[in-house]
Amino acid sequence: MDNPVQDDLVFVADIVFDRPLRKPFSYLIPTDLFNLISKGKRVRVPLGKGNKPTIGFCVETRHIPSDPKLKSIFAIMDEEPLVSTHLLEFTKWIADYYLCGWGQVLQAVVPAWVRSGATTPKVFIVDFSDKFHISSATKKFSPQQTRIFEQLHLHHPIAIKDLCIKSSCNPSVVNRLVETDWLIKTAIDEDQAFFGALQTIPLDPSIHLNDEQISVSKTITDQVHSGKFCTFLLHGVTGSGKTEVYLEAIEATIKNGRQAIVMVPEISLTPQTVYRFKKRFSKIVVLHSNLREAERGKNWKLVAEGKVDVVIGPRSTVFAPCPNLGLIVIDEEHENSFKQDNTPRYHGRDIAVKRARMLDIPIVLGSATPSFESWHNACKNNYKMLTLSKRVRDLPMPPVYLVDMKTSPPASPSLRGMISEDLQKGMKRALSQNGQVMLFLNRRGFHTFIQCPTCKTVENCKHCDLAMTFHKRKNILLCHHCGDEKKPATRCETCKTETIQFKGMGTEKLEEEITKLFPDKVIRRMDSDSTTKPGSHEYILNAFREGLINILVGTQMIAKGLDFPNVLLVGVINPDTGIHIPDFRASERTFQLLSQVAGRTGRGDKPGMVYFQTYYPEHPAIVSAAKHDFISFVDEEIKHRQSLFFPPFCRLARIVIRSKSAESAATFSDELGEQLRLATTEIKGSGKLKILGPTEAPVFKLKEYHRFHVQLHAEKHTVLHQLIQVALGKMKPISGLEVIVDIDPYNLL
Ligand code: ADP
Ligand code: ZN
Repeated sequence: MDNPVQDDLVFVADIVFDRPLRKPFSYLIPTDLFNLISKGKRVRVPLGKGNKPTIGFCVETRHIPSDPKLKSIFAIMDEEPLVSTHLLEFTKWIADYYLCGWGQVLQAVVPAWVRSGATTPKVFIVDFSDKFHISSATKKFSPQQTRIFEQLHLHHPIAIKDLCIKSSCNPSVVNRLVETDWLIKTAIDEDQAFFGALQTIPLDPSIHLNDEQISVSKTITDQVHSGKFCTFLLHGVTGSGKTEVYLEAIEATIKNGRQAIVMVPEISLTPQTVYRFKKRFSKIVVLHSNLREAERGKNWKLVAEGKVDVVIGPRSTVFAPCPNLGLIVIDEEHENSFKQDNTPRYHGRDIAVKRARMLDIPIVLGSATPSFESWHNACKNNYKMLTLSKRVRDLPMPPVYLVDMKTSPPASPSLRGMISEDLQKGMKRALSQNGQVMLFLNRRGFHTFIQCPTCKTVENCKHCDLAMTFHKRKNILLCHHCGDEKKPATRCETCKTETIQFKGMGTEKLEEEITKLFPDKVIRRMDSDSTTKPGSHEYILNAFREGLINILVGTQMIAKGLDFPNVLLVGVINPDTGIHIPDFRASERTFQLLSQVAGRTGRGDKPGMVYFQTYYPEHPAIVSAAKHDFISFVDEEIKHRQSLFFPPFCRLARIVIRSKSAESAATFSDELGEQLRLATTEIKGSGKLKILGPTEAPVFKLKEYHRFHVQLHAEKHTVLHQLIQVALGKMKPISGLEVIVDIDPYNLL
């Protein structure tokens, strides 16, 4: 017998898999693996009727009564656990809260490279040889060789590839010096070289903080020293120096021998942001989501080994395996990109607060335009509110000029509805003062849709209920959702009219029109079409910073976090695009985006100016953003949320039912609706409860799938959990039909 029975008990491991299973499965541990098994390691076990060898995570070991049905573990995959006990507990909480498989969360957390068990690659470093020290004085070297020695004097030892960059030489020149014994070459682990290279960025001392910054920093650092849980909401207008406050808090954390996690939205993870952190801290890693797997994995390992003080990155950074985490900072906490739109559908901010609570450490949520959820929490004293009310150096907030597009004349007749005369004049003025201009338009492509003038049919994607965008340079119609493309038709497919019209302006067209208006200026566009090459993003921003670009046209990409003192005008071409989206957060999002864009100017010595070209100059989101008045906006808008029982006054869940067969999706969702309503009668003390739907989702067809949804509102999330589990438990799965449960959804389309 390979698992001795003691008092009828057997030793088992509980295993979870990368599947939507709600419970772990127990497996017998063979005697020879007794000493090797532990929580956090992966194992290979037989799964299902066919006993298919499958890899899972061991999440618990324990003794249970013997059961002949128990299967045995085949093998243990890892020498060391891949996740700590804390991360196991944390991921279990996430699985329970977001109603998905624990194994699915673990799969998302541990980088594939770490799972593959690969070892750290080697890099070659060089240093001076003894021969060099003894006889270099009498030898004459070539200019290239001299440059190499000069650089080596400054930084040695150094990785060959870094030396080549610094001395502008080919590796062959360095290798020749190795062969002739002037240099010695050694192989070391890449991570050792990694920190050696980083330390060459000169570290900046902290700058002179203003009174508000000092007071806010002190509150946070005191908390860091106490090492107790507290959620701070740092509400600071754009340019108020929030980042400096984060840096102070992180410094205090490191001095206490602990690590800090900094989460920023992907879009603001710019070289500029990263550079500011690298100038203050040497042991820092960046977890870009576009890192190669191996690199992500290596960074993860460095962090887990405690070799890193600061980890910065987008939402998944919340899982960084810091062994002694002391602080979490989330910049732009209101950003929707912290919510993951596939399983596990976690919200990086919300689970970060949970992690901080589990570890009993402080967390700072910073924003110029806090989410209503965080604002509400601060008002109820669940979070501690901290405020930076002024810009640094007493710089004024830029005035915002509302251009009413219904009445204002266009810059030229062909630009009606696109560029107003007012904006053109403002741009001329800014440029004549040697200032730079940023124009923001949240739509890429050339024309945003094409339409038949006779039957009004808009050319939609054949897989999605979404208009296709015309891209002129490539001469294609593109679906921005599924990526399907086709050649633009010359006549309407429905009524055969030949004079099909191209309408709506995207950034590609804006760039073209601005080039016509300002022929002697350098104009560049920044959107996901113009930045496909690696490094192009950084290249455009550097050129703009150095003043080589006069006018920068772009989407979201230029809206956030950028700090260019010479931008004297920001123009928002169409601030109205988001207002009418059928989503209760439409107004909030419009306000946030406009405040961010407006915040890109007035950051230097010359004053800045903002133009919103709007058809709705009375809309509260637009009026408040123009006045930089978050508080009036939130006070007014949040009342509607309360009266309609929407977040932050309730917990929301959304169930999406999707299938290629519209009929089967409709039948299933109707029945699910009935089960949900039935379940409400079974749950006692559920408090206020509201079920909306099932109805067709606002975008009914996406990527060939027909979609229905149900929206659940309740006072407590536990009630939502119960309702969903009871109702779904009564439904029979249908092949080809998917049910997606989204707790605290941010995407309602
Ligand atoms: P926010 O994140 O609130 O938009 P930042 O932290 O990016 O603001 O600060 C904006 C700019 O002001 C940065 O260039 C920063 O270096 C500078 N800055 C921050 N604090 C001060 C200060 N006390 N005095 C002068 N400049 C400051
Ligand atoms: Zn499509």
